[in-house]
Amino acid sequence: MENKTVAVVGGGLGALSGAIRLARLGFSVQLFEKNPTLGGKVNEVVLKDYRFDTGASLLTMPSVINDLFNFAGFKRSDYLDFVPIDPICRYFFPDGSVMDASADKTKMKAAIAQLSPNDVKAYERFLKYAERIHDLTAEIFMFTPIHEFGKLMRHRHFRTLFRLHQIDPFRTVHQSVSRFFSDSRLIQLFDHYATYNGSDPFQAPATLNIIPYIEYGLGGYYVKGGIYRLINALKAVACELGVQIHTSAEVEQICHDGKRVSGVQVNGEKIGANYVLCGADAVVAHDKLIDGHQIRQKKLNRLEPSLSGMVFLWGIRAKHPELAHHNTIFSSDYSAEFKQIFKHRKVPDEPTIYIAITSKADAAHAPTDGENWFVLLNMPYLVPGQMWEKETIRMRRVVLDRLKQVGFDIADQIEVEQIYTPEDFSELYASNQGSIYGVSSNNKATAFKRLPNRSRLLDGLYFAGGSVHPGGGIPLVILSGKIAATLISENHDRSKEA
Ligand SMILES: Cc1cc2nc3c(=O)[nH]c(=O)nc-3n(C[C@H](O)[C@H](O)[C@H](O)COP(=O)(O)OP(=O)(O)OC[C@H]3O[C@@H](n4cnc5c(N)ncnc54)[C@H](O)[C@@H]3O)c2cc1C
Repeated sequence: MENKTVAVVGGGLGALSGAIRLARLGFSVQLFEKNPTLGGKVNEVVLKDYRFDTGASLLTMPSVINDLFNFAGFKRSDYLDFVPIDPICRYFFPDGSVMDASADKTKMKAAIAQLSPNDVKAYERFLKYAERIHDLTAEIFMFTPIHEFGKLMRHRHFRTLFRLHQIDPFRTVHQSVSRFFSDSRLIQLFDHYATYNGSDPFQAPATLNIIPYIEYGLGGYYVKGGIYRLINALKAVACELGVQIHTSAEVEQICHDGKRVSGVQVNGEKIGANYVLCGADAVVAHDKLIDGHQIRQKKLNRLEPSLSGMVFLWGIRAKHPELAHHNTIFSSDYSAEFKQIFKHRKVPDEPTIYIAITSKADAAHAPTDGENWFVLLNMPYLVPGQMWEKETIRMRRVVLDRLKQVGFDIADQIEVEQIYTPEDFSELYASNQGSIYGVSSNNKATAFKRLPNRSRLLDGLYFAGGSVHPGGGIPLVILSGKIAATLISENHDRSKEA
């Protein structure tokens, strides 16, 4: 066996990104995905004449994807077309008011002025504050393997560590947003960004206010043809670079001798490898794929999973021009919604409703007289006692009633339907308790508690994906693949020198 071999577990974005980089670095890479298609939580479904992205719908930080293509030696624009979204989202507030949020500062300030003239200046100050958090944290918390002591202590990171108090870690997102804005609707709008990495705005540290800067400062994008085009493009690049991709190939075990990994077991057969890059949820991998190490398992299982979700894919035989590509219909009591989700682990009585309609940008995704609605509700992660079948029926009714109240009486317009619950997310993607963003950031120390990209238990074992550093969401999981591949390559070079 040549000594530059890597077995990659899973075909999600983190794993794919790592596999591409490793192949480019001269490693022989085999990737094993349990499902028939790649992409994990970035997936697509066609129901009759309607085509849907079933997971991610908004792309941020596209430079991370450009960087991956450049590294691999390909031109991103040959594969993918990124389309800026404007408005980024249309917000429907409980009092009946509507606001279009935009990355265009003039438009955004005008929209805020319509809602609450006194808060225009507050928005300018908030964006500057969020940008400062971004500038202080991006390098260290997104691009650096913070669990590697040597790298963390590099001069420029070391300086940042001394300025951590400036990134607002001691207040919650809600406390901090409330200090800037006076209008409760704007507070709700800026609070909701905590959910973008699966967290609770009433618990998560205000450092997460970096997220609105990423959206309004750097922009929100759509991938022409659907977000799933990203997976097709990365698959093509991986194949060009010689990555051997095996689908419908579940890894049953990560093989090791107690000290070092030696490959993976798939369909009862051992595939030898010097390195294993695990892109499956790291908590689940420790529970199910790695024998021994029960203490570590217990510790990992104490990490709080992120939000889960309930998704309704609805092919609607009607046009709704009052809706934009992305829409959020807020609940009337945000704090109660999150208390039910995170404290009581219950399905909320009144959910916030997010609707993405890609046929607004890609007419071919629905019939000429129709639209493809992807409807997402925040849900608790799985705990015993929840009854998802019953809750799905209840939520469907609650959502349709609320939509009718806002002016969208669609019950009789639904032509095709598919529903996903947290149980489906757990089963389909082997995510920890159905979480969709890995570990929640509800705790101040989460950035450091989140699993590292290099195993401390087994030499040669590395991790990528939303459950490990730097966290969930498309750009971050792609960065996790970059960090893991770099660590593997550096480790390999060091072991050759020794
Ligand atoms: C409904 C929803 C909406 C979202 N919206 C957005 C959004 O708008 N913007 C955004 O940036 N992010 C969004 N996200 C989050 C984003 O999609 C994820 O963070 C990201 O795709 C996760 O990538 P990952 O690398 O962790 O892999 P995953 O997507 O978790 O994939 C892991 C893969 O590993 C496979 N696997 C697991 N175990 C094994 C095994 N034993 N053997 C072989 N294969 C295995 C699974 O089948 C799966 O394909 C959303 C997610 C969901 C579900």
